[in-house]
Amino acid sequence: MAFALTWLPTVLKNARLKVAEEPGWPNRGHGDVGTIKGVMCHHTAGAKTGNMPSLGFVRQGSDKLRGPLAQLCLGRDGTFYVVAAGKAFHAGPGRWQGLTTGNSSFIGIEAENTGSINDPWPAVQMDAYRRGVAAILRHIGQDQSMCCGHKEYRLPPGFKNDPTFDMDQFRRDVAAILSGTAPILPPIPKVDSQARPTLRRGSEGNLVKEVQKNVGFVGDTVDGDFGPLTEAAVRRFQRAQGLVPDGIVGPKTWVALDGVAAPG
Ligand SMILES: [Zn+2]
Repeated sequence: MAFALTWLPTVLKNARLKVAEEPGWPNRGHGDVGTIKGVMCHHTAGAKTGNMPSLGFVRQGSDKLRGPLAQLCLGRDGTFYVVAAGKAFHAGPGRWQGLTTGNSSFIGIEAENTGSINDPWPAVQMDAYRRGVAAILRHIGQDQSMCCGHKEYRLPPGFKNDPTFDMDQFRRDVAAILSGTAPILPPIPKVDSQARPTLRRGSEGNLVKEVQKNVGFVGDTVDGDFGPLTEAAVRRFQRAQGLVPDGIVGPKTWVALDGVAAPG
């Protein structure tokens, strides 16, 4: 039988967030959760490249601490990966708002970030983080005060530093979403001024080939299939161009690609 948090994908999708369900997630967990009272924010301290390189680790854990290590992962492009519907080992001993049952009472979100000041959080990822937390809090009937950072919950103080962003500001931003006063981040347009479609992982065709050629694609072939290697190459290109490295070829990235395109 599935565990209790089977509502997670629906709640996130209804908030118009990108959701990827990891195979087996409804039955994954260290037993079931208790009554969920809040959300705990983490960062993975994982690899610097890739959208969600820590996904396998969060699902499986290690010999020391078996997975799942969170119910949700959040990739650099703002995609939520649903890992588990049951209890996850993410909190450790600590306290928030009088609660000391972190793993039973809080949904854990592991967002991909190295934890270094040299790894700024992409706007698209932070926007999804705030909106995802707000959607969950609204669903469980709690306000922003029931969202904490692992660094705020975990005892002894200073034992954890995740997530690196300011949690007081994060809660203010979540409160603005809950009250309907937050500005809506404009979505990436579906086409640019030349009617070229926004391309991302899973896209196929001749325009993907064009991207692969111009982005310095180093995979086996220019095959027109926008897979993980193409995505990684797009991120490298975007970083070098001073763009948000979200791995999505939208209008701004198309313009940058035009600037490096080989003639003919
Ligand atoms: Zn953590």
